[in-house]
Amino acid sequence: MYNPDPGKEKREILNRYRNLLRVWATREKPVNKKLVRKAFNLAVDAHKDMRRKSGEPYIYHPLDVAKITAGEIGLGTTSVICALLHDVVEDSEYTLKDIRPLFGDTVTRIIDGLTKIEEIFEHPASSAQAENFKKMLLTMSVDVRVILIKLADRLHNMRTLDAMPENKQLKIASETLYLFAPLAHRLGLYAIKSELEDLSLKFLEPEVFNTISRKLEESRPERRRFINKFIYPIKKDLAGKGMNFRIQDREKSVFSIWEKMQSKEIPFEDIFDLFAIRIIIDVPVEKEKEQCWRVYSVITDYYRPNQKRLRDWISLPKANGYEALHTTVMSRIGKWVEVQIRTKRMDEIAEKGYAAHWKYKDGIDHETGLDEWLNKIREMLHGEDSDALDFLDDFKLNLFSDEIFVYTPKGDLKIMPVDTTVLDFAYNIHSQIGNRAIGAKVNHNLVPLNHKLNSGDQIEVVVSKKQVPTENWLGFVITARAKHRIKAALKDEYRKFTEEGKELLEKFLGQQKVKCSEGVANRFMEYVGYTSQIRMYYDLAHGRIRLQDVKTFTQLTDKGNWLRFISKPFTRSRTQKSVAPDLIEQLNEKPETLVLSDDIEDIRYVISRCCNPIPGDDVMGFISRKGKIMIHRTNCPVAIQSMSSYGNRIIKAKWKTNESIGFLTGIKLKGVDKKGLVKQISEVIYDKHDLGIRSFNLNTHDGLTDAVIMLYIKNTETLNQLIDNLKKIPEIQKISRIDRSLA
Ligand code: MN
Repeated sequence: MYNPDPGKEKREILNRYRNLLRVWATREKPVNKKLVRKAFNLAVDAHKDMRRKSGEPYIYHPLDVAKITAGEIGLGTTSVICALLHDVVEDSEYTLKDIRPLFGDTVTRIIDGLTKIEEIFEHPASSAQAENFKKMLLTMSVDVRVILIKLADRLHNMRTLDAMPENKQLKIASETLYLFAPLAHRLGLYAIKSELEDLSLKFLEPEVFNTISRKLEESRPERRRFINKFIYPIKKDLAGKGMNFRIQDREKSVFSIWEKMQSKEIPFEDIFDLFAIRIIIDVPVEKEKEQCWRVYSVITDYYRPNQKRLRDWISLPKANGYEALHTTVMSRIGKWVEVQIRTKRMDEIAEKGYAAHWKYKDGIDHETGLDEWLNKIREMLHGEDSDALDFLDDFKLNLFSDEIFVYTPKGDLKIMPVDTTVLDFAYNIHSQIGNRAIGAKVNHNLVPLNHKLNSGDQIEVVVSKKQVPTENWLGFVITARAKHRIKAALKDEYRKFTEEGKELLEKFLGQQKVKCSEGVANRFMEYVGYTSQIRMYYDLAHGRIRLQDVKTFTQLTDKGNWLRFISKPFTRSRTQKSVAPDLIEQLNEKPETLVLSDDIEDIRYVISRCCNPIPGDDVMGFISRKGKIMIHRTNCPVAIQSMSSYGNRIIKAKWKTNESIGFLTGIKLKGVDKKGLVKQISEVIYDKHDLGIRSFNLNTHDGLTDAVIMLYIKNTETLNQLIDNLKKIPEIQKISRIDRSLA
């Protein structure tokens, strides 16, 4: 428990302030120091009676955020002042009117942005969190420093998240994983991105986080030994050539290890098949390229490179500014080692992102990809047809994807995400080219619209006036721009059938003696599972929704809530979805913690099918729109999206101990096909563990066997024991739990 001691706190505040100055002042003019001092004094005064959840004085927070802004992001005076003042307008009597005369327009504008973001998060009005994200991004795109300071703010909140109640922890951690870490990535802030991911994992899945951290620690000495041996000859050689360099052993983050374990379905131990080191040289800018290749030549004198894994991001930097030379070489003990070669300048840009760019380039460089990126965000935000959740999905893709470089027929360079198709490219050129595209000549060969492009391709889009966009185009394009344009074109097409569809619905409802009001139409739309009326009317007009659907709908609702809707019809806008009345009740009196038992009959909650949680898993409850409590594993992607979008519907959930019946879960295994394998597997499951199998699917090809077994299991402990025992069968090569149901 925190114990306030005014004297000690005062010393600590000054201490932190001096720390901030030390990080920041190294490259600043004395006149700026006065300004920072002024901001500090104002912040101290504004927050003087406030405390953080931990009990500590509130001013610790802005001080630490300012320190991150200056040190870890590398921003200058204006940003440090804004960081110090970022919560002042939101939380105290001070207003923007007080700030402007003291610090000027730029500071005021940035603080205004930060305050708006805070309001969006802290006081979510009526709309869902996804809408809020959208608003936030719109605010952020005003000035890139707003994003950077917000990231510093979020990083500090994540570092001090322990003090928060658990449901808040889950909300904040999932928002961070869902949006802030990708943002940091896009801005090239790799160190911050990794830390945000690791901290999110720590709260979302404490057990996973602790296990991997421990294993990482334990295996460190061995990894160091290997790396030291590997770099020894390179070090000697480079030193002999009089080069100024340092070599870093790059350790993977806990989160990236976990991600890889899941995507590749391999155990922790196999992750370290790929080692990575970084060689950072100190050379003047004009010699960078030549010297980096010189280092490459030294390395390949000792180790054989993999031709396919050479990446030259010096000649063509990534859109987020990343520059380096990557190669993968074979070590003496048969393990691949990735070597990244960069200069000190490149390294700083890689670690600190764009802020470092500015340092080298004096002021904001308008030619950078960042500006283009901010423009892209603005464009997406202003797109007409943007369901907030769709938007976020596209946006995230945009944040994370790697790029390829392709060329127009005239040789203009276009940077597109990996997996870009011909059609994406066409829409990137112009929406009318996209709408009329029928194919393309890629390097002079004719290819279809869904053809995936590679770096270096030169593309000439082939168009036809008769072409019209179709719905299945949405199935293969990957860029947000293409999706929006296709949807807009389709919508125009659908809209032509609205009247016809409406008349049909009125007719069908009339036959059931129900009057077609806006409320009824909405209710029906929900019932048939559509999110847009235009689309529903289109399908009505095309006979995809029939009289029978309307009949069942009226019969169903007749028994229950129907009357309520007639006597108290409510209308709602299309963007704001209604919430079931009992859900509102639940939100108001939601229990502290929901204790889950193995009683399948318990009707208060539903075990969700997307991640099939079993006792022992970290779980959370989420109140669905229909008012049911859905139980998800905290790592479930569906849950993370829901949690980050509707934080107020999270319910803490825990398993009641000593369960008896089983929960349905699945394991997947791969092995060498050999007679008796199935028998051995079933012996372990039935005889050793006495478990019930629900299904057993076996697939044999090329001498290999893939099996998927769904079975009832008591808890994670039993599951892990079972997996350990199955691993003892020599023919089994790989075994993992299935998170997502195969259905
Ligand atoms: Mn803050």
